[in-house]
Amino acid sequence: MNCESVEDLLSAYMDDELSTNDCHSLEEHLKTCSHCQNVLYELQETSRMVKVAWAEEQPRADFEQRIIQTVQASQQRTQVRRLSILYLLSALFGVITLTSVLVSPLGIFLRALTRLAIVIARGLISMSTSVGLLALAGIVISCIALAGLSIVGISRMLRPAQSEVVV
Ligand SMILES: [Zn+2]
Repeated sequence: MNCESVEDLLSAYMDDELSTNDCHSLEEHLKTCSHCQNVLYELQETSRMVKVAWAEEQPRADFEQRIIQTVQASQQRTQVRRLSILYLLSALFGVITLTSVLVSPLGIFLRALTRLAIVIARGLISMSTSVGLLALAGIVISCIALAGLSIVGISRMLRPAQSEVVV
């Protein structure tokens, strides 16, 4: 074997991929050739350093999981912030609408409508007590259920956002 063919086989030699014959002739050449010994040494050193660097660069086992959690927490915080702004805006809008409606002609119309609704409700109750009460109870229960659902929804959105995840 000459130096050139030995150099071509050194990598395979390091990985134990040579046939017994090739391995034997390569080792015979290495015994007498300092150049190829140096090349082998350089290759082994490089491989060792790559392994060390690779081991140091390996992220911790839960790295990916923690990145996902951090991103999710940040998304939830953004969502809560957006919701808070939305609620504030709608509350503001409600107050403005209510104020303007109460002082405008539309307010008079709405108050008349409310009075009409009360009259109808009273009529329902007095006309057929059971049906009227049932309808009123249905409306009241729906309102309570809706309020409960929104409270549960909001508290669910707020809860995970409070747990801070640090990578
Ligand atoms: Zn050689």
